[in-house]
Amino acid sequence: MAALLFRGSLRLGVGLCAPCPLRSARWEKAGEVSRELWEKAGKQGLLGINTEEHHGGVGGDLYSAAVVWEEQSYSNCTGPGFSIHSNIVMPYITSYGSEEQIKRFIPQMTAGKCIGAIAMTEPSSGSDLKGIRTNAKKDGSDWILNGSKVFISNGWLCDVVLVLSVTSHETRSPSHGFSFFLVENGMKGFIKGRKLQKMGLKAQDTAELFFEDVRLPASALLGEENRGFYYARQQLSQERLLIADFGVSASEFMFEETRNYVKQRKAFGKTLGHMQTVQHKLAELKTRICVTRAFVDSCLQLHEEKRLDPGTAAMAKYWASEVQNSVAADCVQLHGGWGYMWEYPISKGVTGLLWRFRGRWSLACVTRVAGCKVVRPWLFPQVQVLSQICNL
Ligand SMILES: Cc1cc2nc3c(=O)[nH]c(=O)nc-3n(C[C@H](O)[C@H](O)[C@H](O)COP(=O)(O)OP(=O)(O)OC[C@H]3O[C@@H](n4cnc5c(N)ncnc54)[C@H](O)[C@@H]3O)c2cc1C
Repeated sequence: MAALLFRGSLRLGVGLCAPCPLRSARWEKAGEVSRELWEKAGKQGLLGINTEEHHGGVGGDLYSAAVVWEEQSYSNCTGPGFSIHSNIVMPYITSYGSEEQIKRFIPQMTAGKCIGAIAMTEPSSGSDLKGIRTNAKKDGSDWILNGSKVFISNGWLCDVVLVLSVTSHETRSPSHGFSFFLVENGMKGFIKGRKLQKMGLKAQDTAELFFEDVRLPASALLGEENRGFYYARQQLSQERLLIADFGVSASEFMFEETRNYVKQRKAFGKTLGHMQTVQHKLAELKTRICVTRAFVDSCLQLHEEKRLDPGTAAMAKYWASEVQNSVAADCVQLHGGWGYMWEYPISKGVTGLLWRFRGRWSLACVTRVAGCKVVRPWLFPQVQVLSQICNL
């Protein structure tokens, strides 16, 4: 109930990300959103929602956090990397950080004054994280960090970035020798490279980062030395769930866009929405989306109760991404040529989906479930039923 009220107030009152074409175009051109937007989000309590109050967060539950990322999807506003900041970076700090680190970063991150990023991927190793080369060597009590990272979301704007680095070569497997460091903007030798030009998510800053003999104090180590890979695995379920929910909410958004479009677009003397084949297609899409929503919502509940296992989270990510992909293809098709035009929200929805297929671990514990096709259109013969499903 609280989450429902929160959603209502967010949608009605805030309009933080509401698609304002001018503002969106400006962000897309710049390849980043403004820092002002981050601070505004902080003031409105949209960052660190489910981070505990005593750590400096808002103190809400997972459902409230989900409302924020879902509403961001529904407004087709992919620019601000709020979810990575709030739901990936902040949990690392609160779960493994020292009291000093939590005090230093979390309240500022909740306020939108300190933007967080996480850097694992390197030019030569993405899915295969064990191949990373960025390394930190001890120098007295300090660490000297060298290496580079690529494709880092919030990488350009970030004030603090969690950097996965090799800290030991003497462990039984490479991944047992990885650690995370909190690297701050402005540290000598920390260089932000290019803001990368992407085919979608154009307003989201994705950058290369370089570390050239960056001297880090012992207090920059997150948690215990050589436990980085273990921490990354522990955080997996939440990351997978986030991507799954983004996938299904993006599908819901694309469906609504398409339904509205076919209701007004005319061909052969009537609206597209009156064509039975179009109704079949929409009914099929809606069914797939609803089934996916039910599964993802149950995963959200399991996660809130700390019962979501990584395998189920992987299934959610895999399935919701598959559905998002097929919904995108069908919805853009139903828009005809206009769907291919950047000015139409559906085209942004389509180009924004690809990053969800990032490979790391996503399929590792999922086997494809045979025969999982949902109800085919011929099971819905009557136009009336179709119209009800699609609210045409
Ligand atoms: C927009 C965007 C934002 C990102 N944000 C971040 C971020 O904030 N932080 C960060 O650390 N990284 C980030 N990434 C990187 C992302 O996590 C990697 O792209 C991903 O892990 C895949 O690595 P790769 O690109 O090197 O592809 P590769 O590892 O080279 O994989 C290429 C292809 O091979 C497939 N493949 C790989 N291994 C296998 C295998 N064993 N069997 C079969 N197929 C395989 C992959 O699935 C993929 O299809 C981002 C990427 C994008 C595009």
